[in-house]
Amino acid sequence: MALIVQKYGGTSMGSPERIRNVAKRVARWKAQGNQLVVVVSAMSGETNRLLALAKDVSPQPSPRELDVMISTGEQVTIALLAMALNDIGVKAKSYTGAQVKVLTDSTFTKARILDIDDQNIRRDLDDGAVVIVAGFQGVDQHGNITTLGRGGSDTSGVALAAALKADECQIYTDVDGVYTTDPRIVPEARKLDSVTFEEMLEMASLGSKVLQIRSVEFAGKYKVKLRVLSSFEEEGKETLGTLITFEEGNKMEQPIISGIAFNRDEAKLTVLGVPDRPGIAYQILGAIAEANIDVDMIIQNVGHDGTTDFSFTVPRGEFSRAKTILEEQVKPHVGARAIEGDSHICKVSAVGVGMRSHPGVASKMFRALAEEGINIQMISTSEIKISVVVDEKYLELAVRVLHKTFELDQASA
Ligand code: ADP
Ligand code: ASP
Ligand code: MG
Repeated sequence: MALIVQKYGGTSMGSPERIRNVAKRVARWKAQGNQLVVVVSAMSGETNRLLALAKDVSPQPSPRELDVMISTGEQVTIALLAMALNDIGVKAKSYTGAQVKVLTDSTFTKARILDIDDQNIRRDLDDGAVVIVAGFQGVDQHGNITTLGRGGSDTSGVALAAALKADECQIYTDVDGVYTTDPRIVPEARKLDSVTFEEMLEMASLGSKVLQIRSVEFAGKYKVKLRVLSSFEEEGKETLGTLITFEEGNKMEQPIISGIAFNRDEAKLTVLGVPDRPGIAYQILGAIAEANIDVDMIIQNVGHDGTTDFSFTVPRGEFSRAKTILEEQVKPHVGARAIEGDSHICKVSAVGVGMRSHPGVASKMFRALAEEGINIQMISTSEIKISVVVDEKYLELAVRVLHKTFELDQASA
């Protein structure tokens, strides 16, 4: 008997009919003799609707209150799925994050899971029930409701699989696996049967929202067997989706690039004419870090006349806050000439473990972009990825061109 954690996303839970379909799939896995823990998202659009409602009432809502509210979407779907299972004769019981006790820190709207109490879940599983857990949410040590960041139900699923030492964690979504790039942008994108954990980690961190980055981190840390599958395949026609593997496999067969990721959620800030001396980067980024704003790419230009320009990117939602900090705190303090900002940029990245053993990937990438007249504003690289920042209007073109340049539309050997 295997213990399986399944996670169903918003589209999969998007209507009463779809919820009944999820119940049927869960029932089939249960009937095969497995123990099932099911993590669900809110119905698609619900979290956005709730966020818009909050913003309508208050321009800067308290993060604690936001979490009280946006966690309700998942509270609805857990109960609906339990009802649907009961109706087809399957014993099921639903739990909110706080009821399970998914303990998190107190960073509202982007909390981190610290511990999961498996007592209730184990008892119900031993009792023959399917356990349904609300994704995306937890509770801090003071009893406050917290949420895990957008797309956080993936993380709930994988964290539960880790805590329960499940045999497999299955992420059911609206595509049948991880593709070479988002199939909604490039219809020629190909489904990957497997992708290495490292590549998946890069792709998720670079914006491929098919899995939330934290879920991949959990899978790596606890060696969770993780699979991405479609919840829309009919009975008897199910495919195996994409398995996240921990081995690189045979390098001879590895494509150099496995996927193209992109992220619209970026904005660029530049501090112009700062003195070119030690401590400046710290003074600029220290103020940003103190405000709990994540910084992604950083570039410091070559100094001339004793001054230099310093650019970095932040999540788009933090753009105006970061700009205000630079203008009010940093500029007078470090003696900068001016602050510039651009919130219409995006980041496009090529990812592949094969890059390690193949030089020339960067130049191939830059040539392809140049041939389309796409100007590169920033570059960053790691061992297995190359990212560029370009004007947002070129996003789709850049992704398509790179997908074709690295022959990702063609079946690999
Ligand atoms: P869910 O609600 O099930 O969590 P998401 O919308 O969060 O689903 O994630 C699935 C979506 O991720 C797909 O519909 C697809 O558009 C997008 N996506 C982005 N990059 C990729 C990729 N490389 N492979 C597959 N899907 C991707
Ligand atoms: N409902 C949450 C969101 O929309 C969590 C999730 O779907 O994973 O971000
Ligand atoms: Mg998701």
